[in-house]
Amino acid sequence: MQGKQYILIGGGLAGMMLAARLLLTGNSVTLFDYPNPNSASRRAAGMFNIITGRNYVKTWKAETLRSALTDFFELPELEGLKKHLSLMPVYKPFKNIEEYNHGLGAGARNEGILVMNEAPVMEEYIHNPFGGMRVNQCGWLDTPAFLEDLREILESRFSLAYYPWKIETECINMNEKKIRIHGETFGFEELVLCQGAEKQLRTLWELPVIPCKGQTMMIEAAMELPFILSGGVYILPAGPSRFTVGATYEWEFTSPHPTPEGRESLCTELQKIIRVPYTVISHFAGIRPTTHDRRPLLGTHPVFPFLHVFSGFGTKGILMAPYFSGVLSEYLSGKKGKIEKEYDILRYYRKEKLALPQGADMRSIIRKMSE
Ligand SMILES: Cc1cc2nc3c(=O)[nH]c(=O)nc-3n(C[C@H](O)[C@H](O)[C@H](O)COP(=O)(O)OP(=O)(O)OC[C@H]3O[C@@H](n4cnc5c(N)ncnc54)[C@H](O)[C@@H]3O)c2cc1C
Repeated sequence: MQGKQYILIGGGLAGMMLAARLLLTGNSVTLFDYPNPNSASRRAAGMFNIITGRNYVKTWKAETLRSALTDFFELPELEGLKKHLSLMPVYKPFKNIEEYNHGLGAGARNEGILVMNEAPVMEEYIHNPFGGMRVNQCGWLDTPAFLEDLREILESRFSLAYYPWKIETECINMNEKKIRIHGETFGFEELVLCQGAEKQLRTLWELPVIPCKGQTMMIEAAMELPFILSGGVYILPAGPSRFTVGATYEWEFTSPHPTPEGRESLCTELQKIIRVPYTVISHFAGIRPTTHDRRPLLGTHPVFPFLHVFSGFGTKGILMAPYFSGVLSEYLSGKKGKIEKEYDILRYYRKEKLALPQGADMRSIIRKMSE
């Protein structure tokens, strides 16, 4: 099948991974991504873990998502990106004897993935008097460095056309299938919105992406950890004596920037797990694109068949983007008949209906948007 001309708006994990899938299957891609310092992918700690929560439950589609992640880094066309992916276990100290007992049962049910540490480990650095649980098949992705290198590879080897520009609704002509910006015109056959938690371009229908602010810090501390330490916060080894500490989950916020309260909350939790002194080197905030049902948002607009959406990864962008970029790219190429109902954007179409002003005539609105 002959490739198509795509325009993608947004170049976080969603947009860049989808761009890679589309370019590798013979399409041409123009990507607009303005450098918002609070975008989720620029601030993601990058951790992935298929078993989460106090009950050690496997995440939705755990094995599928985990193997799509490692497969993505094995793609021969994208050689050179693997250095950004670090595989290492997560260690969760037990808080008390109940958690220890609970861990015994969970470990038996998930052999190979969960391994009990019945005795404390590395006590010079961490508080874990009851031992803890080691969760295998985890790790972290240096997301900003990965995205930078991926873009460079796609530009140099696959002719990705990349512009660090912000697209406003007024720039898009739905009728002509063109984007006009800064005196230039860009045509498309398919348009995909990969805007993360940002207010979507007006398309008659606003999807319910729920912004969730997260704050992280980079600290310096004289310790060495062979794992990601996880308690009230996670502590991720990010270089010699450097650790990423995260994250807060804020559903109501007035500013997208780091706050003293965010820092205090991270420091309070940090002091509960580590024993060594530390220095905060930097402090960041970003906005996650979450959904009510914790499923991603993929699919095609009900009115414009050439307009698609790719977002809603919430707290699990690293696990979700590799797999779902493959799903969406196959669907767009016609290889996959339809998107599963569970994550199709149309699940919200029925519930929310089109956001039309009272008394508005749909045809005249579409006509207006196409002018
Ligand atoms: C503090 C924090 C920690 C996190 N930690 C983890 C973690 O450890 N593990 C994990 O799996 N996930 C983590 N996440 C979640 C993860 O970052 C997200 O799921 C993922 O990055 C979402 O990617 P995205 O591409 O959908 O959105 P984004 O990364 O927000 O990207 C959207 C992009 O679109 C651009 N854009 C929007 N509108 C326009 C427009 N009109 N024109 C041009 N460009 C536009 C924005 O500038 C942005 O670059 C974390 C998030 C935060 C905030």
